[in-house]
Formats: sequence, structure tokens, C-alpha cells
Amino acid sequence: VPKMPAPTSTRTLVIANQKGGVGKTTTSVNLAAALALGGLSVLVVDLDPQGNASTALGVDHASGTKGTYEVLIDGDPISDYVVDSPEAPNLHVLPATVDLAGAEIELVSVVARENRLKRALKKYVDENPVDYVLIDCPPSLGLLTLNALVAAREVLIPIQCEYYALEGVSQLMNTVDLVMAELNDELVLSTVLLTMYDARTRLAAQVADEVRAYFSEQTLPTVIPRSVRISEAPSYGQTVLTYHPESAGAVSYLEAAHEIARRGVKESS
Ligand code: ADP
Ligand code: MG
Repeated sequence: VPKMPAPTSTRTLVIANQKGGVGKTTTSVNLAAALALGGLSVLVVDLDPQGNASTALGVDHASGTKGTYEVLIDGDPISDYVVDSPEAPNLHVLPATVDLAGAEIELVSVVARENRLKRALKKYVDENPVDYVLIDCPPSLGLLTLNALVAAREVLIPIQCEYYALEGVSQLMNTVDLVMAELNDELVLSTVLLTMYDARTRLAAQVADEVRAYFSEQTLPTVIPRSVRISEAPSYGQTVLTYHPESAGAVSYLEAAHEIARRGVKESS
């Protein structure tokens, strides 16, 4: 994998879309692996109680494993629970377990409940200046996703090239605007990634056109194809980049990672 340009300071991206099954987790883990294989250091924060990102990165997340829950609720340092993913060098994961499901409710009564992840990440990054932090969100706009939006600088929205692709996106944009106005004025929607693109259907092409018209600046040139290799990889505890590095899915995630890395460098110079 060719080297990717490093950002001048840590870039924190939240992978968000309150719709389930649009490719948030798949995008989080495969972009993370691609950036790490490109020579960059990456932390993935698994913020979904299902722990699918942890699984796909080959990291243990059996109930009782400590991770995101303890960071958010107990205020423990991230560095206590970060583990290395076997998928790539310099790819680190803060795992999530089913216990995190309770955090959504428990956080309601916690002090500075929207700022828990931000604080913990700041401390971690000060001590471990990684190039990228990618936060994989659950399919909701609750306090977990809110914590991610407050902690991040950039929002990446994966959009599935299917019917109703843009359904819910305006609600997400409203939430992003609210967070920008009230809690995190540095937040920007930097990236939109088209996922599960089926080149054989006119529908996919229409959806892609519609999304590009709406998010002309943000949509990456690369689209992620619908690919069996991509969907099989997690059952082997792998990303598609190590499972089938030559596959179209792996190549497209590498290309998308390159585009993200290049754009970031352009913006900050
Ligand atoms: P989310 O995190 O938004 O709920 P996932 O990333 O878990 O979505 O994806 C939902 C399902 O679709 C998973 O089974 C995943 O393996 C599959 N999937 C995601 N991207 C692709 C793709 N490009 N091609 C085929 N299957 C995909
Ligand atoms: Mg997910």
C-alpha cells in the first residue's frame, strides 16, 4: 500500500447516520485499516453496543471486556482499555460491549454528559498523537452519538445507494447544526461516502447523482461497490483489506482513504 499523507494534527471523524445498515461500521473499520496500512496511526472508538467494529477489527469484546462504557460512565482513561488490532500496525481500538447499551440511559444523569468522550479523547490524543480517530456510531441520535459529535471535528456520512437513501439525512444535518451552534462550533460535515453501489442498477446511479447534487463538495469521487467480500470479512474477524486485498471492495476503501487523507492535507495547508 502506498504511503498516505499524514495530517498536521489529529483528525477526528465521526461516522454517523441514524439509519441502520447503511455501512457505518463497514466504513469505519475498512477506512481505519486502509489509513493504517498507508502508514498512519489510527484509533477506532467503537461507540455501538453491538460491538461490530470491534469484531471486524479482530478485537475481543465479550461482555465484561472494558472499553467505551467505562470511559464514558466511570471517566476512565481511554489508554487503559485500548488494544491493538491484528489487522494493521498502528491500528488501535477502544472496544465496545453490550454493556454500552445501558450507557445511553445512564449518561442522562451524568455530569457534563455530552462532553465525556471529548474529554477522554483529548487526554488520549495529548499523550498518543495518532493521525486519525474514527468513531463508529450506533444507529440513533441519542447521547452516544451526541458524545461523538461533540468530540469530533469532522462528520462522515455513509449513504447507501438504495431507495430512501437521503431519508433521515436532513434530520442528521439538523442535529449536526444544533451541535455546531450549541456544543461544538468546530464541527464540519467534511465527507459523504456512497456505499453498497450496484453498478448494474439505474437506481444506484440515480441515488449517487442525487447525493452528489446535494453534497457536491463533500461526496468522495470513489464509491464503495456492493461486494460479497466486504460483507464476509467480519465473520473472519477481518477487514476486507486483509481478507481479500485485491478485491474491488478493498481497492475502493483504499482509494477512499487516500482521498480523505489528501483532502485533509489540502485543507490544513
Ligand atoms: P451500519 O453500521 O450502518 O449498521 P454495516 O456497516 O454494519 O452498517 O452494514 C450493514 C450490513 O451490510 C452488514 O451486514 C455489512 O456486512 C453489509 N455491507 C456493508 N457494506 C457493504 C458492501 N459495500 N457490500 C456488501 N455488503 C455490505
Ligand atoms: Mg454499525
